[in-house]
Amino acid sequence: MSSMTKLNYHSKLRTLFRKKLLKWYDRYGRDSLPWKVRDIYKIWISEIMLQQTQVKTVIPYYKNFITKYPNLKKLSAASLDEIMELWSGLGFYRRAENIHKSLRKIENDFDGNFPETYDDILSLPGIGRTTASAILTFSGKGHRSILDGNVKRFLSRAFKIRDNNMNALWELSEDLLPEKRADDFIQAYMDYGSLVCKKSKPLCYECPINTICMSYPYTPSNNNLVKKTRPVKKEIWALVIINRNKDIYLEKISYDNLWKGLYSSPIFHNKSDLLKWASSFKLNKSLNSVTWKFSHNLSHIKFTFNVMVCDIKYHKKISLSVDNWYNLSSIDFGIPKYQTTIFNKYKE
Ligand code: SF4
Repeated sequence: MSSMTKLNYHSKLRTLFRKKLLKWYDRYGRDSLPWKVRDIYKIWISEIMLQQTQVKTVIPYYKNFITKYPNLKKLSAASLDEIMELWSGLGFYRRAENIHKSLRKIENDFDGNFPETYDDILSLPGIGRTTASAILTFSGKGHRSILDGNVKRFLSRAFKIRDNNMNALWELSEDLLPEKRADDFIQAYMDYGSLVCKKSKPLCYECPINTICMSYPYTPSNNNLVKKTRPVKKEIWALVIINRNKDIYLEKISYDNLWKGLYSSPIFHNKSDLLKWASSFKLNKSLNSVTWKFSHNLSHIKFTFNVMVCDIKYHKKISLSVDNWYNLSSIDFGIPKYQTTIFNKYKE
């Protein structure tokens, strides 16, 4: 027995749902987004940027990126550092790395052309089922549905399905997709989830689907379908090292963390590790004992940065690499947002 039968899902309800959703989209949907084009390359970039990131945050990054790299050919020549520079501040930097890896795969496996079938798109690094479907459907090359966080929440409430029942939700999402206007429909899915059936305080009383919604009126107490996750608190210790030319020492983060591939002051999990590292390079004597703090919040982690400064103006015996010194005016590579905060404070 399929999950549809269990849900007592019938074709009249499906028709009504499609009609109501598209009618709402025609009136309120976000149809003027800059990536509303048929160019599969531009749609790819936008869909990667939109992974775990809100539309309003993505828009300026997308515009900058497309201005610099308007097509696949131009982007193919870009280095990872150049891509990272444009990605600075957008977060989830592995996405930029995946774009760079994809370029090599496109070159080797698809003769330099962006793939145009679902399975080929899915084979690119960093692309899952929803992203592949969105790229295919928005570019008019196919007809597939999606299940991102917004759609999952919306469908799980409207059809009262547990939000961890991925098979049932995927089946439902695909089944509701109409033959015509599939691209508008999946955009409507996303927009509805983020503008009406919102994470907190959904607009149930104004919702045109409330007559068929099985959770109406939705309240977290009568529906525990969506679990809340609290952000984790973390401490980071950063060491800002400045030389006599007022250049700053930065290292490319090569280990697996949130900022892999970007350039940063050396960072540590605690003060003791920072001091040990400073001692190994004979920096202790130049270390300023004053520590300043600032918060850096991501959606899932609240960081407290503790910053120590080391001014090595008069200290010659240090053994740090000579290649890692950068002048603030000539930084043309990716740095994390917290590093910008450090630079701004340093400029003060
Ligand atoms: S009635 Fe409320 S819970 Fe149901 S689909 Fe509309 S906004 Fe979402």
